[in-house]
Amino acid sequence: MSPVRRCSRTACGRPAVATLTYVYADSTAVLGPLATYAEPHCYDLCSEHSERLTAPRGWEVVRLATDSGPVRPSGDDLEALANAVREAARPQERAARGAARDIDPMEVARRGHLRVLRSPES
Ligand SMILES: [Zn+2]
Repeated sequence: MSPVRRCSRTACGRPAVATLTYVYADSTAVLGPLATYAEPHCYDLCSEHSERLTAPRGWEVVRLATDSGPVRPSGDDLEALANAVREAARPQERAARGAARDIDPMEVARRGHLRVLRSPES
C-alpha cells in the first residue's frame, strides 16, 4: 500500500513528484526522486514547486531529477545518490561520532572539514 504523497508546501495539495533534502552540513538543498519513506529533513514537492524551488541565502540547490514530469522510482543511480544524500543529512548520527565544540551553538559536531549543524526546526 502506498498512499499518494502530497506536496508539503502550505495550501498545496498536488501530488508530490520529488523530495527535497536539506544537507545542513554542506548548506545544500538536494532535489531528487521521491523518497520511499518520510525523513525528518525531507520535504515532498509537486512538479510546480520543484521548478520554483529557491534555496535559502548562501545555500546551493542540487537537482538530481529532471525539472518536470514524474520521477520513476526504479533502482537507478539517481535514487542511490538521493539515498546517500539523505544518509548524510542525519545530524544525530553524525553527531554521535564527532566531538562537539562550543564555538557555534548551532554546531553539534565536526568531522573532517564538514560541520554538522542543528536543524533550525528542532
Ligand atoms: Zn506544491
